[in-house]
Amino acid sequence: MIINISILGSTGSIGKSLINILKFKKKEIKINLLTCHQNYNELFRQAKIFNVKNLIITDSKIFSFIKSKKKYSKYNIQNNFDNLKKIFKKKNDYVMSSISGLDGLLPTFNIIKHTKKIAIANKETIICAWNLIDIELKKNKTQFVPVDSEHFSAYFAINKNHISEIKNIILTASGGPFLNRPLDKFNTIDLQETLNHPNWSMGKKISVDSATMMNKVFEIIEAKKIFNLPYNKLSILIQPDSYIHALVNFNNGLTKVIIHKTDMKIPIINTIFSNDTLLQKKIIKNYDLDLKKINNPKFQVIDSFRYPLVNIIKLLPNKCSLFETIIVVSNDELVRLFLNDQISFKDIEILLLKIVKSKQFAKYKKKSVNKIDDILILNKYIKDYINSKLFK
Ligand code: NDP
Ligand code: MG
Repeated sequence: MIINISILGSTGSIGKSLINILKFKKKEIKINLLTCHQNYNELFRQAKIFNVKNLIITDSKIFSFIKSKKKYSKYNIQNNFDNLKKIFKKKNDYVMSSISGLDGLLPTFNIIKHTKKIAIANKETIICAWNLIDIELKKNKTQFVPVDSEHFSAYFAINKNHISEIKNIILTASGGPFLNRPLDKFNTIDLQETLNHPNWSMGKKISVDSATMMNKVFEIIEAKKIFNLPYNKLSILIQPDSYIHALVNFNNGLTKVIIHKTDMKIPIINTIFSNDTLLQKKIIKNYDLDLKKINNPKFQVIDSFRYPLVNIIKLLPNKCSLFETIIVVSNDELVRLFLNDQISFKDIEILLLKIVKSKQFAKYKKKSVNKIDDILILNKYIKDYINSKLFK
């Protein structure tokens, strides 16, 4: 049977990993839709390999340029996600949601009704809009599977157990590039050092978030939403080589620990082909257990002096609220300013804590997320606020 697949953000790191996996399964799949923002060269390369007709290019200038070229006229190319109904004659079997940032929110929400299963990598969607996503999943009987390695590991460990059987979940963090940096040398951190992640090869934004530990704060929020657990049942433990991804403690005294090589292909493969002998032979066979790493996990408790942003976890409301959007957007904007060399590494931490602790924004903890637009309007407001008020 042919598996119908679509990939939102197919030209990114997660999207390309999935594409590389699918190359082994070409005869058994059909790709209905691929999307990018600007990287049309990669998009057309992928479209050619898999004979994909429907493409979305969200950058308007690039879209107009492509539309003016005759050689691309055989493709059905759109500039946005408004016409999904026309693209999909029947439901996809599987969609990967791997657009980066809040721009992935609306496409992810809109595609749920067009798929039987959705794997969501886009953190922002889960963090800011989980209550709406969850309703849409249930309404359309769409199965959800997490992609982030820690969450996929916990999901795999929990399997058919009921949430009430879980005592707590521990997500591991590598500690990033500054795990051993003397605390008095944090003021001199530069961009290059920040992007130099010891274990994972990732985009710039998520690399900065790993260095500040904000990525793990986001992952705690993601876990809270996905597994429907209170924050006091979720915690972080440093495991420097990122070999162990999650530990799930059950009330019966047993703990499941999920270990795998630091390669996103493992969770990605398992979100779609969990027992595939071909992929096991072609890709997974290279992932033998590394005894040196298991014998020496070097777990460490997280130090909030080194990673002050973990204090944000204490401020989080247990109910889904617009406060999560404030955190995501503020961090996004501050990381962008850091990447543009407009603020220092330390400023990200100082300014983010200032924003999330301010009375002005605390009221959003009580504001529920009623529609996607609530998030998108707040997104614009916070960005304007940071760029106008905070710097003038
Ligand atoms: P990348 O930046 O590598 O790729 C992002 C993808 O989204 C690209 O296809 C990009 O297109 C597209 N895109 C970017 N901006 C827009 C926009 N405004 N509108 C529509 N599409 C857009 O990201 P990653 O693959 O690293 O991550 C994707 C998501 O998965 C993120 O939310 C990340 O936090 C999460 N994640 C990533 C992990 C990783 O290891 N990489 C691990 C766990 C989660 P183009 O190429 O044209 O720019
Ligand atoms: Mg992760």
